[in-house]
Amino acid sequence: MAGAPAGPRVLLRRIREVMAEPVNAQTRLDKIVIQIAANMVAEVCSVYVLRDDGRLELFATEGLNRTAVHLTTMRSGEGLVGLIAATAQPLALSDAQSHPSFSYKPETGEEIYHSFVGVPILRGGNTLGILVVQNRAQRTYLDEEIEDLQTTSMLLAEMIASGELQSIAPAGTVIALRKSLTLKGSPVADGVGLGHVVLHEPRIVIAQLVAEDPKKESARLDEAIKVLRASMDELIDGNEHQGAGEHRDVLETLRLIVNDPGWMRRMREAVMTGLTAEAAVERVQNDTRARLQRSTDPYMRERLHDLDDLANRLLHQLTGQPFVRANDKLPENAILVARTMGAAALLDYDRRKLRGIVLEEGGGSSHVAIVARALGLPVVGDVPNITNLVEDGEAIIIDGAAGEALVRPPADLEAAYAEKARLRAGRQEQYRNLRDTPAVTSDGVTIDLHMNAGLPVDLPHVNETGAVSIGLFRTELLFMVASKFPRLEEQTRLYKSILDAVPDKPVTFRTLDIGGDKILPYMRHYEEENPALGWRAVRIGLDRPALLRYQLRAMFLGAAGRDLRIMFPMVAEAAEFDSVKDLTLLELEHLDRHCHKRPRNLQLGVMIEVPSLLWQLDEILERVDFLSVGSNDLMQYLFASDRDNKRTAGRFDALSPSGLRALKLIVDKAGEAGKPVTLCGEMGGKPLEALALVALGYRGLSMSPSSIGPIKAMVLGLDASDARAHILPLLERRDGAHSLRDDLQRYAEEKGVPL
Ligand code: PEP
Ligand code: MG
Repeated sequence: MAGAPAGPRVLLRRIREVMAEPVNAQTRLDKIVIQIAANMVAEVCSVYVLRDDGRLELFATEGLNRTAVHLTTMRSGEGLVGLIAATAQPLALSDAQSHPSFSYKPETGEEIYHSFVGVPILRGGNTLGILVVQNRAQRTYLDEEIEDLQTTSMLLAEMIASGELQSIAPAGTVIALRKSLTLKGSPVADGVGLGHVVLHEPRIVIAQLVAEDPKKESARLDEAIKVLRASMDELIDGNEHQGAGEHRDVLETLRLIVNDPGWMRRMREAVMTGLTAEAAVERVQNDTRARLQRSTDPYMRERLHDLDDLANRLLHQLTGQPFVRANDKLPENAILVARTMGAAALLDYDRRKLRGIVLEEGGGSSHVAIVARALGLPVVGDVPNITNLVEDGEAIIIDGAAGEALVRPPADLEAAYAEKARLRAGRQEQYRNLRDTPAVTSDGVTIDLHMNAGLPVDLPHVNETGAVSIGLFRTELLFMVASKFPRLEEQTRLYKSILDAVPDKPVTFRTLDIGGDKILPYMRHYEEENPALGWRAVRIGLDRPALLRYQLRAMFLGAAGRDLRIMFPMVAEAAEFDSVKDLTLLELEHLDRHCHKRPRNLQLGVMIEVPSLLWQLDEILERVDFLSVGSNDLMQYLFASDRDNKRTAGRFDALSPSGLRALKLIVDKAGEAGKPVTLCGEMGGKPLEALALVALGYRGLSMSPSSIGPIKAMVLGLDASDARAHILPLLERRDGAHSLRDDLQRYAEEKGVPL
């Protein structure tokens, strides 16, 4: 405290000594409040700790009646202490009792103290408790004094976070830090995962909070900022492909903040209160987080991420600790918790130890979600702030279908989820037993169940699930997890290895479907107003024919004379197919010229994803060998409803008359033309949707591996002609129904079709 006989550094050192003493937690806390009061020349110093019921409980005091300890409590928002908890901001008053929020607690005997200063005890931007100092005389606290108190509260945060205080809490009371939480997010990949938190970016452990030599710390901080600035400049001004996926505008924002005098001043001031450089960065970031988390302005919350990013970079710089966890430190039953994560980073982990993933950002179509699904991991996305609410190693359960993460679950909940996971595993076992049973309806109609894939890790599932083929191989996933554009030889090797891995079953390769949300970090990215309607998929291939020709060449070389099926995404008119076919023919000639074998039986197909094709089906069917319906995109374009937008996600239903009529048109036309048609969007893997598709006449569905079992079970219990007789009149109705889902659900229940 300015002018105090012992400065803040002396206080910090004393508290640190007390923290190391082998005494019980209550004695330790009592000693700490005495030290703080003495150092700040105050009559009162009290510590309130936040409990799991949201109340703040007096845990220790010097100056107030000791009998009030563990008795006095208040709600968040109640009294001055509650006000600090609600705002997460310091509060200093020379006449506390005249403040409208002042609430008198007679048992404390505080009526004789007039001035009051309190600060939140923060960790990861979350309030763990309140530290209060009071003086009998009316006095104004200086900014530096408040600053010192905030620094002191960091040590208390450490003590609370250690869990030590739980041992002195009254029976039945749980401190907030140990509170079990149910965090709502969005469902990304189905499944239940039980395990322990593994922070993808491990929290930096600050071994030393208190500085020995503030000048040295100041210099360390300046040096770290200098290095950070230089690295930002290099990232931005280096060549345009640099930065491993980081976008230029994000980097530009970070560079602005790194040069912001206010940000640096706050950290320097924190160092002057006696903290080490890293502790100062952490303290300032804590305050910023507490403030911005309460902001309702999405722009401000976005800035918080930028600031978090920078603070992390600085902390890594100062402590030399690694950015990501080494694989050998991965515990068994790991649930990865990350703000965001790239697909490649996920593949770096040992799959055998992973039980699930929780992301702060990133919904169902994020790349990491696609890869996680391929790995069969449950995923919950869009869980706000989870990385700051959990600690490494804590128990966590995730429910991918419900989109929930349960942190520090109580034992009964854990048991219930363990049971749920066992049941699920049991069902999977039943599905595995169906592996060699052909999917034939009760009236003898064979439905071909194909598998969607995109990565080498998917391939073993072909035989495990009994899929008849790989009906959709999304080649872009291989490109998305690569760090640079795969060259011809590398691509050839990849396609060859896929065909080698499933020698007895066909593979339908889809050419690169990039653009839109699928961005290759090493390829120039163009900002577009409407990326889903923009320069993507076959449009890129037609404008950059060398790219498409390279891919076709690599597929031909990889096939080396074997059968090959290729399909093109996002075709919007027959002429586009003619163009890609011309390129294909050129590549076949190239093979001849270089004395390579042509594929034995080359089949070319088109994905029906763009509604314009619904009125060119005759032309398209004349040209292609097969069709594949990309219902994810087809429905998004039919309903003009972004497939990844949470706000519109439930608005329209593919099982509506319009959706189903479009799907019927395709299967009818293909039937007339005698050309095979498969559907490879997500709806093919959902039992009720698949029932409708079979009823409409679809005989081939391609889906993620985990759906094959449930869909086969449905097919085995279905009478296809009866279902058709049921659905066709529903499609004729003119009642303007929003969806036929309920009708179909009732039908399935009545007929005992397992869904
Ligand atoms: C689709 O659009 O339905 C499809 C299968 O392709 P993707 O999901 O890869 O866009
Ligand atoms: Mg698509």
